[in-house]
Amino acid sequence: MSRIVVIGSANVDHVMSFDYLPNPGQTLLSQQYRIEHGGKGANQALACARLATAQSQIDFICHLGCDAIADEMSASWIKDGISPQGIGKLAGEKTGSAMIFLGEKGANAIGVALGANASLTPQSLEKHKSLITDANWLLIQLETPTASVAHALNLAKSHGTRTILNPAPATTLSHDILKAVDIITPNETEAQAITGIEVSDIATAKLAAQMLHQLGPSIVIITLGQQGAYLSCDEFKGQVTAPTVDAVDTVAAGDTFNGALTIALSEGEPIVEAVKFANRAAANAVTKPGAQRSIPYRSELV
Ligand code: ADP
Repeated sequence: MSRIVVIGSANVDHVMSFDYLPNPGQTLLSQQYRIEHGGKGANQALACARLATAQSQIDFICHLGCDAIADEMSASWIKDGISPQGIGKLAGEKTGSAMIFLGEKGANAIGVALGANASLTPQSLEKHKSLITDANWLLIQLETPTASVAHALNLAKSHGTRTILNPAPATTLSHDILKAVDIITPNETEAQAITGIEVSDIATAKLAAQMLHQLGPSIVIITLGQQGAYLSCDEFKGQVTAPTVDAVDTVAAGDTFNGALTIALSEGEPIVEAVKFANRAAANAVTKPGAQRSIPYRSELV
């Protein structure tokens, strides 16, 4: 039995499409409105659960509000195999929400209310300490308070839990945090935010990876969209290509990549094979619209 713990955000996304974005003071009527379950933590935990075999236990430590959407989201995650014990529902809080306005030619305006995600503090993680220290792998991102990310990484590292940081969304994070990271998985923008190096091709990905190694992680994986990923570790340095697909929506591509990578590693796959599996899973996700609904099940990848 392999144990994976994912820590992070869960949001409900309210998505409205318009011919153009409303101006300040203007009211526009949307012909298209949909609700998506999202949040990087939830997406990555769900990717782990959908891609895992019965030999894995997937815990997700998150904070939801006490509202109907929290019940709906958590029920769907548990149905797909996430264990319930890390999922907190906080009295008096609202589940994190994003209001996403889509306009012409990909223009968008987004407002995010952190809601219950903001109260995922280091103290609250202590309540779930054993889920972190007993896990084989920790997968975490940067949508919850930075102090909690640092606390979880240090706790994991000191108990022999291997750590994967997906440093998303892009931010200039304190380099100290990276000392407790075994594997870091930025996209090009996130790699630039940490290193200051503009990543636009394999040569610049290599430079950014060298700098990231100096900060702590022994394995650096920079995702490159349809080009796959640049992998840098002792065994291999170079590009691992993604399958060619007809992409319709890249939302949750990175999250699927991270979940799949974690699952493959937890099953003992060598790192190059794990990155190939992650590329296959993420390439599958971009062929479908939506966030959590685009994340593939293991049976779709055979
Ligand atoms: P993010 O979604 O975090 O910005 P990327 O755009 O780098 O990250 O995409 C993450 C992964 O998704 C890539 O490494 C690749 O495996 C897959 N991917 C993204 N876009 C495509 C595409 N057009 N075709 C095939 N795979 C893709």
